Amino acid sequence: MFSLAKLLPSACIICEAFQDDLVCLACLKKLSNEALWNYECCTQCGICLTANELQAVDCDDCQIEPPHFDASYCLASYDSSLQKALHDLKYAKRTSVAHGLARAWNVILSSRLSDLEIDIALPVPLSQTKLCERGFNQSWEIAKRIDCGNHIEKLPRALLRHHHHQHQALASKVMRYQTIQEMFYLEHRYAPIFKDRTIIVFDDVMTSGATLNEIARILKDNGASRVINWVLLRTQQPQ
Ligand SMILES: [Zn+2]
Ligand SMILES: [Zn+2]
Repeated sequence: MFSLAKLLPSACIICEAFQDDLVCLACLKKLSNEALWNYECCTQCGICLTANELQAVDCDDCQIEPPHFDASYCLASYDSSLQKALHDLKYAKRTSVAHGLARAWNVILSSRLSDLEIDIALPVPLSQTKLCERGFNQSWEIAKRIDCGNHIEKLPRALLRHHHHQHQALASKVMRYQTIQEMFYLEHRYAPIFKDRTIIVFDDVMTSGATLNEIARILKDNGASRVINWVLLRTQQPQ
């Protein structure tokens, strides 16, 4: 396929060395080695299993309180070499970095996920206020460039988000839970299309999983048969 990346030299989004691809070969190799694909992870929430959980396929939390989503595939841990690149995209607004992040995903994970039978892919939305502030939705900027087959409908406007002033990181767990329950809704005309479909929800970072769980609940309430999370960076349990 024709690729601009091959015509022009560019800085690797990870080490910033000038070369001819969005992520240099050395960084792709390093990332490939540290990718979560190499570790035993919970099939449902994607977190690395602890030594005690290794016998099961799910972590203790998912066994005690199974989430609404069915599986999570996460590229790398939050503290991996991709963290800085994601911050460059989100906070320094270097939107070109999204191409490199999608490239890393496509090289490392796409062929491994090609057997999944998926119908629809959605990014985790930002509220209209946040979207105006940032100018773009980082999850959509990455998700729209991810290879997942031409038959899959990618719908950036089907799932919408209300704006809440409470900063998620500062709120208590109970308050966060209450806020999150009223946070997302489906755009009216899209609501019927989820029935009996398998949906991918793409997020840039998964922390507690509460946001993705609430999205999965709404999609399942609207008839989705399976909801699978695709996540760029997964935070891990504190040791
Ligand atoms: Zn590099
Ligand atoms: Zn889990």
